[in-house]
Amino acid sequence: MKIETKVVHAGDRKKDPGRPGAFVPSSTPIYTATTYLYENTAKLDRVLGLEEPGFCYGRYDNPTRSALEELMTALEAGHSAQVCSSGMMAIHVSLLAALTDRRKSVLAANALYGATTTLLTQVLEPMGVSVDFVDMCDLAAVERKIAESKPGCIVMETISNPLLRVADLDRIAELARAAGSALLVDNTFATPLLIRPLEHGANFAVHSLTKFLAGHGDVLGGVVVTDEAHAEVMRTLSRTMGPVLGPFESYLSMRGIKTFALRMERQCANACRIASWLQSHPRIARVHYLADPNHPDAAVIRRLLPEGLYGALVPFEIKDATKDDVFRFMDKLKLVVRGTSLGDVHSLLLYPAIASHREIAPKQRQRMGIGDGLVRLCAGIEAVDDIIADLDQALA
Ligand SMILES: *Cc1c(COP(=O)(O)O)cnc(C)c1O
Repeated sequence: MKIETKVVHAGDRKKDPGRPGAFVPSSTPIYTATTYLYENTAKLDRVLGLEEPGFCYGRYDNPTRSALEELMTALEAGHSAQVCSSGMMAIHVSLLAALTDRRKSVLAANALYGATTTLLTQVLEPMGVSVDFVDMCDLAAVERKIAESKPGCIVMETISNPLLRVADLDRIAELARAAGSALLVDNTFATPLLIRPLEHGANFAVHSLTKFLAGHGDVLGGVVVTDEAHAEVMRTLSRTMGPVLGPFESYLSMRGIKTFALRMERQCANACRIASWLQSHPRIARVHYLADPNHPDAAVIRRLLPEGLYGALVPFEIKDATKDDVFRFMDKLKLVVRGTSLGDVHSLLLYPAIASHREIAPKQRQRMGIGDGLVRLCAGIEAVDDIIADLDQALA
């Protein structure tokens, strides 16, 4: 079944197990109950003992959340999923799961979502996990670091923020497997429509549901989809720690995902039009876009991503712009929302220097290729001509 079909059908239309023969709801209801009763105590005993499927307590499982977990498992082609209260919670709990039976060391991409870097250096490192960073697009360096440190877990993103670098996931998965390291891939920017990391050998695919998947800027959530080997440890950690998403947010996320494939296709098409318009604009110094034949990872992109789906993100550099110039440009925007998220139905524009890369010294930012004039646009589903007209008047 194709992903456009799965988003509409997977996880839904479960018969209420407590009322056999009763109706089947066409979409999954919001179940708020935290405990569940069965016809007799012997059955409850079997459910609590995991000998029989069933719901017993809200921290363990919940029918609304389970439906979303089944849906996400289908979309990411995994074995099972745990839906969490945020993307960061999903990353945290999957890192703990990855390191449970392995060396307490992580090799991470040096271009990562800011809070993920902070989680590694300010939460895990002080607890005794050794953390090292590498440029994931430099395979020789990755191979050297893996041989040197034999990390318990390797952490990377399918498309990096904000410069949209794409590392060779297949090769890194091979290196990870050979070294006995778990591979954890944050697939938030790419989404399962573009790539499914578990199909390339990753052990954990994580998402901020907050972004493209839920897609409406009205729900915070995260998810971890695992392979079979890590399903049990994830389940134990989740049942014990309770990182779970509530039934209301689970419902909202699932409702959002129904149109995710449609929205993402439109957002990718809009981004493509915007990127080529920006490329010929006299005030633009540079546009970062995955379909660019001069992209440093063009060969990997061609191999990993489907033709025509190059993501919704279009970071671009305003020529010789200072921070004040960028502020003036942003303040003139009337349609495009100035905000720190991405993946919503409305177009969003973020200034990395004051948001995701705020904590990094300006010189270091320059070295990373993030100049004072760089902004990151995420195309929404609006009519593309309206988005372009708004950018045009703000650049004037
Ligand atoms: C937003 C985001 C996260 C964190 O997700 P939250 O839902 O905000 O906790 C992690 N990784 C990436 C790539 C993100 O864009």
